[in-house]
Amino acid sequence: MMRVRFAPSPTGNLHIGGGRTALFNWLYAKASRGAFVLRIEDTDAARSRKEYLDEILQSLAWLGFNWDEIYYQSQRFDIYREHAQKLVSEGLAYIEKSEEGKEAIIFRVSPQKIKVRDLIRGDIEFDATTIKDQVLIKSDGTPTYNFACVVDDATMHITHVVRGDDHISNTPKQILLYKALGFNIPGFAHLPLILAKEGGRLSKRKGATAISEYRAMGYLPEALVNYLLLLGWSPGDNREIIDICEAISLFDIKAVNKTAAVLDLDKLDWMNNQYLKRTDAEKLADQLMPLLVEKKYIAQENYDRQYVVSLVQLFKDRLCVLNDFVDWADFFFLDNIAVDEEARGKFLSTDLSKEFRLFIEKLEKLEIFDIIHIEETFRELVQQLNIQSRALIHPIRVALTGKTVGPGLFEVIYYLGKERTKKRLMRWVTKEEAE
Ligand code: GLU
Repeated sequence: MMRVRFAPSPTGNLHIGGGRTALFNWLYAKASRGAFVLRIEDTDAARSRKEYLDEILQSLAWLGFNWDEIYYQSQRFDIYREHAQKLVSEGLAYIEKSEEGKEAIIFRVSPQKIKVRDLIRGDIEFDATTIKDQVLIKSDGTPTYNFACVVDDATMHITHVVRGDDHISNTPKQILLYKALGFNIPGFAHLPLILAKEGGRLSKRKGATAISEYRAMGYLPEALVNYLLLLGWSPGDNREIIDICEAISLFDIKAVNKTAAVLDLDKLDWMNNQYLKRTDAEKLADQLMPLLVEKKYIAQENYDRQYVVSLVQLFKDRLCVLNDFVDWADFFFLDNIAVDEEARGKFLSTDLSKEFRLFIEKLEKLEIFDIIHIEETFRELVQQLNIQSRALIHPIRVALTGKTVGPGLFEVIYYLGKERTKKRLMRWVTKEEAE
């Protein structure tokens, strides 16, 4: 059976690159009905943190990459020592004593040429004459990355090592260890580097943000997974929206690009919008509820769920991230809406008391207060006043929402309701007129 592993170190959050490595491993396992093993590389006690571990596990679960088995290297020190000692007894490794009398175990590297068969990059030759003897177990008793990695991959029966390009230089050292320990060498697949759109390596500023931060910003996991998928692979027909089940049936590790992938956040936003459009408003509304409660837009125990769902429906096609809803739809929840200064100057600096008053009167008379009738009323009004619709549409919108853009005005009026519409328009009716 094919077995792959994802091996994060809990010394930091799960970032885009790690998410992509996890995805390709998970996908490869699913595509071949194999096992996806999660291995926590926590040998460095000083740098490993529980918070990072939790964050990594939560992010993987949120992305939907369920693991079949999980191991912690910190619980396997005896296994590493046993294997290192075996090499010492066979003369393939030796013990080095430090001045304080502490013992490290060192692997004797014999000069040779090593060929790595990489499923993505093809054959790569390394000249191991330049590789120095390798530490297996440090004098503090902890194993080195290369050694623990090989012992684990072999004893966990990993058939394919799929990881980032940055580990390519470790591969010949690891192959020497497989050979010395008498283990089978697994298949290797090194995923291309991810570069920033501006060029160069990813940094926080250039989008190398933790998966959990994308989650907090309101990206949908399906969209992020689809986006990660395209960082190095495509189904081959220029299609960009690929359902994960379909990806499982089409994915082939050999078809992964050799050249670096570029992280394009605009494209991620576009992708997220595509997924928001397709996602049920009810599901999105439920996802938003905690945030709306936190913002005090709604009360935890007492809110009109259907109303929120309708509003999400109204906005969802335009949202880039789900959380945009919080800023864009604020006027539906708050009474004291902030009016954009520029918009006020542009659309509300002339006195529209007469027009607003007439509109309010007409709305009040409406027996059926629905979107169609609201629109009819408005059309009547502009005809009566003999003005163009836009002379009034923008001012009304700014008065009601504080913004110049948003959903259709008649929908806005409908969902605000008669009373709130009236109140907000009245704020712009001058005193003398109002009397
Ligand atoms: N812990 C290593 C890392 O996070 C794993 C490398 C590997 O997959 O072999 O980069």
